[in-house]
Amino acid sequence: MSAHDPHSYADFSQGRIVHLAFDISVDFSSRVLDIATQFQLQAPATGPLHLDSRNLEILWVRCAGGPVAFEKHASDPILGERLCLQLPAGTEQFSIGCRTSAQADALQWLAPQHTAGGAHPFLFSQCQAIHARSLFPCQDTPSVRFTYEARVSVPAGLSVVMAAERTGHDRDGERDLFTFRMPQPIPSYLFALAAGDLVFQRIGERTGVYAEPSVLEAAAWEFGENEQRLEAAERLLGPYLWDRYDLLIMPPSFPYGGMENPRLTFVTPLVILGDRSRTWLITHELAHAWTGNLITNATWEDFWLNEGWTTYADSRITEALDGPDFARLGDLLSVRDLEEDLRSFGLTSERTCLHASMRGVDPDQAFSVVPYIKGFLFLLSLERAAGRQAFDEFLRRYISAFRFQSITTEEFLSFLRRELPDIGAKVDLDAWVYRPGLAEPLPELSSRLFEQVSLRVADFSAGHLPKGEEMRKWNPYQKGLFLKMLPEKIAPADCQQIERSLGLHETRDSVLLYEFYRLAIRSGYQECLPGMERFAATVGRHYYLARFFRCLAENEWSRDLARPLFERVRSGHHPVTAAVVDHMLTQAGV
Ligand SMILES: [Zn+2]
Repeated sequence: MSAHDPHSYADFSQGRIVHLAFDISVDFSSRVLDIATQFQLQAPATGPLHLDSRNLEILWVRCAGGPVAFEKHASDPILGERLCLQLPAGTEQFSIGCRTSAQADALQWLAPQHTAGGAHPFLFSQCQAIHARSLFPCQDTPSVRFTYEARVSVPAGLSVVMAAERTGHDRDGERDLFTFRMPQPIPSYLFALAAGDLVFQRIGERTGVYAEPSVLEAAAWEFGENEQRLEAAERLLGPYLWDRYDLLIMPPSFPYGGMENPRLTFVTPLVILGDRSRTWLITHELAHAWTGNLITNATWEDFWLNEGWTTYADSRITEALDGPDFARLGDLLSVRDLEEDLRSFGLTSERTCLHASMRGVDPDQAFSVVPYIKGFLFLLSLERAAGRQAFDEFLRRYISAFRFQSITTEEFLSFLRRELPDIGAKVDLDAWVYRPGLAEPLPELSSRLFEQVSLRVADFSAGHLPKGEEMRKWNPYQKGLFLKMLPEKIAPADCQQIERSLGLHETRDSVLLYEFYRLAIRSGYQECLPGMERFAATVGRHYYLARFFRCLAENEWSRDLARPLFERVRSGHHPVTAAVVDHMLTQAGV
């Protein structure tokens, strides 16, 4: 499928990349990758070929006939530089040698002291949305899929993992050499590698976990239910087509909760809490193996196809594993997050549309829960209108029709209208997809676990502080909801009481701390400052960190603390996270 992608210089009339072969050398001392890449085109091409690149030093370009002429155009702040090759007549294969910049936005290089073990450096890539172009020139759009093979060399003693099948490991003097192959075609944003002191533990037949030795055991226990989760996902979505489902435990500065790199989800260590209470995150990443990785948004304007479907599938798998009460509680919590984003953008803002033009917009800066939760509510409306059985059949037909393809919103809608012809009469498709705010009617959601929380919030409003014994037994969704549903501002003394009642003074659950610290900031509960400093230094998930800093900047007493606090912790964060927080603080005027 082709669509013009506003975030790529790719022009498919010139040619289309279908296979890559990488030779990658990792240099920890200068923090660069030297990469020689061989490109295979779908059909012989002649003349100009435009590729995406950012801050790359292009060393040479060759094809069978010898050197290939190339030039790099001036840099665009969002798109980077257009690399123009002049291919000799009938070129099917060509190669490019390049060196990444020490500031490559896809990479984070960690010194040993920033790792769990403290003895070896660590490197990881994060290519979503448009960062692959800072590693190697490519058609950096999700509408192009390629298979690949790779040889990666690192200093002896370190290990390399990729979102691919490892095919070999050799030592060559001072270097360890790893080889990989990726037989399933992927879009560039799912290219992923990491290197460090990594070991592996098996969980089940198809599942396992890679981590630094000191966190391996805890991680393998925390995610010990992954095999059952995979089986539950297959019951809803059909066979798993990526062979293995392993996890890689990242350093805390990883900017996301998880990244659904195929075969190897990258996951934040912040969810390893010793009680499996936040492992629902894996259900989301796993569901992406179908919705996102198998069927991919053609451009970032269609991002809701990845995230809305995945949020829907996540809710269904959770329902199958933990029951409807628990699943609907999670949905209700998500809807609160959505309401918050809708309020902050304004109900008529284009940012609240599922599909809207993103020309001139950096996808990282546009990140919000709208494609996730509004997308989920839209799909749930479709399910309710069609009936669950008919919708489940539709879902499986959708997956088999478009697997290993990248599709646009329009392509999805026409498939929907064809497969469920009555649906347009029952659900206002245009309103959901193309108009801002929420469409009516909203699907109803209810949960007994939610009612328990509502009762305690009502007690609080009537002047009764809830009792600690009951609240401490709540699951983290319930605790988070309680914090969200309290009035915007409460008395600082009540903050202190709630902190104790929910056990927040001793928790490591960063999502709960995020909710609590925002309440504390709005309420002027300044005793939290040391805890907030720790939070700002150690929580790398940019969604939480940026909103935490925005809250600091928006409240009178804490406004002047926001920028200095950010500058104190900035160097420990990923370049993507630092850029998102910086942008948010600048917008807030601090
Ligand atoms: Zn996702």
